[in-house]
Amino acid sequence: MIAALLVNHNSPLVLAEISPAGPLEFGQVLVRVLVSGLCGAQLQEIRGEKGGPLPHLMGHEGCGIVEEVGPAITRVKVGDKVVMHWRKAAGLESPIPRYQFSESSTHYSLPATRYFTSGRVTTLATHSICSENRLTPIPADTDPALGALLGCGLSTALATVESEARWGDSVLVLGVGGLGLSLLAALDLTRPRRICACDTNERKRSPARCAGAEFINLTDEKLSGAFDLILDTTGAPSAMENALGHLAPSGRYVMIGQPAPGQPVCLNAARHMFDGEGKTIKATQGGGFRPDLDIPRYLPALAELYLDRLITHRIPLEKINTALDLVRQGEAGRVLITMSTAES
Ligand SMILES: [Zn+2]
Repeated sequence: MIAALLVNHNSPLVLAEISPAGPLEFGQVLVRVLVSGLCGAQLQEIRGEKGGPLPHLMGHEGCGIVEEVGPAITRVKVGDKVVMHWRKAAGLESPIPRYQFSESSTHYSLPATRYFTSGRVTTLATHSICSENRLTPIPADTDPALGALLGCGLSTALATVESEARWGDSVLVLGVGGLGLSLLAALDLTRPRRICACDTNERKRSPARCAGAEFINLTDEKLSGAFDLILDTTGAPSAMENALGHLAPSGRYVMIGQPAPGQPVCLNAARHMFDGEGKTIKATQGGGFRPDLDIPRYLPALAELYLDRLITHRIPLEKINTALDLVRQGEAGRVLITMSTAES
């Protein structure tokens, strides 16, 4: 198997030939990856903000086909198409997967340690050992791109909108990247009273409008108190500081993108947090998404979703660093990584 590895922080990923370090253990499933998503969390990992040992296998949203199952697996079987997700579903929590570098690897000179471990789901590789509870089977005719989006960004968006948006709300989405576009698509399915979006990149005006949102400027004082719900994908303290004043009395501010470690946020005019019944700031972990319960519920509704409005790039694994640059530059919507062995 070929995998994109983080070998050093703040460095390009390295393609390496690796293999499982032994037979599958209790609760482990070997998946042939078809498509992986990329999100801001990978950039945080590359910057070293998430910790963890090096080398490190990457990616936490994908779609693949089950190739082999370890002992005691009941939720998936060989041949199943599965969503690979970082949120836990029902099923077994496996031991940490172990891999080894292949002696014959032509991609990468072997480091001192031959063996290494990974998280219980990884997706930036042609194959991956996953924990049973990070996989949810989907119908065989599901578009693998849609499957991959349901592993993190789209599912987070759908679950966040379902749990936070109320009928008749005026909603502002901060940041029009892959997650922001997914939120706009999810909001479009629920049709609130007003949907606005903003981004520091003016070129995001057009994709925001295509997704049915008014593109606004955060410095517009006329927007003071205009939004019942603000969904922040940016993790940028400055965005939060500028946007909080636009929250209506009793309004809710939901942090979805994570600020970098150690970054403070200044609460301007904090007394206005008491307006109405009091305003709320909350942080959400993937919108509380429950993969095994929610994916089967969401799939039928997603037939109406225009995937091409969300997905701006499909890039082969070999060009993973080009793909990461696109996400870094803030120009892309959802970027998907396709494996050269991919079949749908
Ligand atoms: Zn993610």
